[in-house]
Amino acid sequence: MSDTVVESVKKQLFIGGEWVDAAGGATFDVLDPATGQVLCAVADASPEDARAALDAAVAAQAGFAATSPRERADILTRAFELLHERADDLARLMTLEMGKPLAEARGEIIYAAEFFRHFAAEAVRIDGGYATAPAGNARFLVTKQPVGPCILITPWNFPMAMGTRKLGPAIAAGCASVIKPAHQTPLSMLALMEILAEAGLPAGVVNCVSAMRSGETMEPLIRSGLARKLSFTGSTKVGKILLEQCAEKVMRTSMELGGNAPFVVFEDADLDEAVAGAMAAKMRNMGEACTAANRIYVHSSVIDEFGSKLSAKMAELTVGPGLEPDTKVGPLIDDAAQAKVRELVDDAVGQGATVLTGGSAPQGEGFFFTPTVLTGVPQSARMAHEEIFGPVAPLTPFETEDEAVRLANDTEFGLVAYVFTNDLRRGIRVAEAIETGMVGLNQGVVSNPAAPFGGVKESGLGREGGSIGIDEFLEVKYVGIQM
Ligand code: NAP
Repeated sequence: MSDTVVESVKKQLFIGGEWVDAAGGATFDVLDPATGQVLCAVADASPEDARAALDAAVAAQAGFAATSPRERADILTRAFELLHERADDLARLMTLEMGKPLAEARGEIIYAAEFFRHFAAEAVRIDGGYATAPAGNARFLVTKQPVGPCILITPWNFPMAMGTRKLGPAIAAGCASVIKPAHQTPLSMLALMEILAEAGLPAGVVNCVSAMRSGETMEPLIRSGLARKLSFTGSTKVGKILLEQCAEKVMRTSMELGGNAPFVVFEDADLDEAVAGAMAAKMRNMGEACTAANRIYVHSSVIDEFGSKLSAKMAELTVGPGLEPDTKVGPLIDDAAQAKVRELVDDAVGQGATVLTGGSAPQGEGFFFTPTVLTGVPQSARMAHEEIFGPVAPLTPFETEDEAVRLANDTEFGLVAYVFTNDLRRGIRVAEAIETGMVGLNQGVVSNPAAPFGGVKESGLGREGGSIGIDEFLEVKYVGIQM
């Protein structure tokens, strides 16, 4: 299949400001999940190619660290503007490689651009301190410096935003980097490389390597000790492997890992608001989001009403290829994702859950799944413990606030939770008791470039975005001055 936006993207590795082939001209195919057909082939980096990219970042590091914060802010601002100017084409490209409906893809480009605007402002606000030692005989000068060359690894579900959420603060802080997008969705990141170059980013400051065998390609890079930081967004399973690799040279890490978000609806909630919140928390990105509501706990006195309202909304959604104007739910990323969602639904139904709507994959090409609501899902079901990553809303009743909190915390994950109640004190009490890095109180979307995004427990380490997002790419240096 050919499409002009796909044709217009360079499909090589971006190293030291140049587009180069992978060793031996190796490539791998990128598929359109709406059809399962090949969209194009892109360069498949070898470990040596990845090393060349890191060498370019290392070579660029000192010069880039010496640029003024204002210069770095200006580059990010220009890149923000270019993302807006090209949003329509970039959205089409993202839909083709990832599947999400065009309007959502466009929304992601705007969201992704916002990280550049946010960190352009942060670049010129990197602070420090000056203090007198308690004994009065010395002064403490505290300053922040770029951490050094970074390795950035991103997932396929938000192909542009997960990249800008790392590149924005890295560039703002003065760090050079190598970025590796997921093999399913390299095209958005390759398109971003052109934009950054046009925005005036010096050669070598950002290098991009697409690779099919990520473990083989990235492990020597991480173990080389040449990079000082790994920022990873992806599954908890892979995050743990990378943490072990980083331990060898005691690399700094930021880990944005998997989620298993509880969505709690109390009997005093505005049910229409709660349904709207659940639709947003569940169906953004077809449910393929780390923040997706994975377990919906509803007070037993309102679960039937909530279930029928949610099912009616879910049944209205048009499933189809993301490029079609009416589509609200695109395909899942690949056949394995579709098979996993099917398995999880069958498991829950086998354990006594009732299907209120959906429950299966439609016939035909592409990796689609029908929006599904299940009720009476027991806590023993696999989907109560594993990320569904698909358009399936499992409802489970509860009786008391304590039980709701206990169920919400019954997971090794701790990224985000959603709480719906009209009782402010209860809302704050429950938000404090739930063990997650983020809570949506009467709101179904928490992601915001100006807010600190991240999880606790096995959902990760560190925060992206907000005023502290840049600190992940800065080292604190203290200079003691004898007086
Ligand atoms: P994944 O399988 O962990 O992959 C994430 C990235 O890591 C991809 O670029 C992947 O490359 C790469 N990778 C895989 N194995 C690797 C290895 N051994 N060494 C180095 N790199 C390796 O996750 P995914 O399926 O793409 O993304 C879905 C997961 O991401 C979900 O668990 C979701 O919750 C999580 N996520 C978390 C956040 C957050 O902010 N907390 C945001 C979005 C997604 P290849 O795919 O090319 O092999």
